[in-house]
Amino acid sequence: MSTNWHIPLVDLKAQYGTLKTEMDAAIAGIIEDTTFIKGQPVAAFEAAFAGILGYEPATVVGCSNGTSAVALALRAAGVGPGDEVVLPSHTFFATLEAVVNMGAIPVFADIRRSDYTIDPDSVADCISERTRAVIAVHIFGTPCDMTRLTQICDRHSLKIVEDCAQSHLANWDGKPVSTFGAAAGYSFYPGKNLGAYGDAGATVVKDLEQATFIRSYIDHGRSGKYECAVIADNLRLDALQAKVLSVKLPHLAGWTERRRAIAAFYNERFRSAGFKTIEPDKRAYAVYHVYVVEVANRDAVQKELAAVGIDTGIHYPIPCHAQPALATAEHRIPTPLTVTDDIVNRIVSLPIYPELTEEQMERVVSNFLRVAVPVA
Ligand SMILES: *Cc1c(COP(=O)(O)O)cnc(C)c1O
Repeated sequence: MSTNWHIPLVDLKAQYGTLKTEMDAAIAGIIEDTTFIKGQPVAAFEAAFAGILGYEPATVVGCSNGTSAVALALRAAGVGPGDEVVLPSHTFFATLEAVVNMGAIPVFADIRRSDYTIDPDSVADCISERTRAVIAVHIFGTPCDMTRLTQICDRHSLKIVEDCAQSHLANWDGKPVSTFGAAAGYSFYPGKNLGAYGDAGATVVKDLEQATFIRSYIDHGRSGKYECAVIADNLRLDALQAKVLSVKLPHLAGWTERRRAIAAFYNERFRSAGFKTIEPDKRAYAVYHVYVVEVANRDAVQKELAAVGIDTGIHYPIPCHAQPALATAEHRIPTPLTVTDDIVNRIVSLPIYPELTEEQMERVVSNFLRVAVPVA
């Protein structure tokens, strides 16, 4: 067996290997400089990220992580205590935390069977007099149907907040995610498509005034060096993480293309064998943060693949509405979450990362097809 015997879900070590010289020098530079908080590296990353996405540089604000980024986006959109926020139950728990920690009330919508993104019809059924915003989670890197969501939200004067934690560089109908809503949050958790070497995130807002507010909010609500205008928080992005992200950013477009090529390879092999995989809309440029396929025998698939060194995951085994934490938190489920509850025992995630080799892809496919049974 080759040294590639073990195929992880994400291989951060392989990525570091491709960047080592530049990355080590960049990190050493920050340590020499000793400006660890805020400063030029943060501003430079914010401007570079904004540039790649086609934003105004001032409207991207680096922050501590993706959870705070989504919470800050809700805050920028004007969501407050007692407001209802519609979100998919099928998402990472952090999306929900951002809502509840704001004092807002989560209202769970179902997802579409085709691509697992929030179902606009279900969203329409969730709207009440108290609804303030809808969170479009571009789950697995697949953009939501922003055309229909925008129509529904416009009709009811609701704000859209985008959770882009899994969707760096994704676009809908040629327009980048995070530019549709009132505000958006990105995560740069190490395993995300663009990952720091620790926790990091960014909030994207619409104008300079909002950006100034968010910039102050993440820095103790400062209005001067010693003056604080509001009781806020410390949710800053640090210079070291900003520098790591700046080194990686020029590679992101290439990495994304590679993810798409791997997904296309998997799709062709799995679909022809009768398996249901993510089916993005024709208008979607999906970036495959996670590669999901539905199986009828998940336990066996995970066990058999583990036995041949192939890691798998489940994103996510417990939807938000079924979490124990929800038992004591106010929330609403206006319509049955049929698709959400249906897929939860079938979905399995397979290794996908830019450094995956052809040989590794072949091994994933052949071993998967050897053991997996399609859903009838
Ligand atoms: C990762 C993630 C978050 C939270 O990001 P952190 O940086 O881990 O706080 C939020 N929403 C989704 C959909 C995520 O995948």
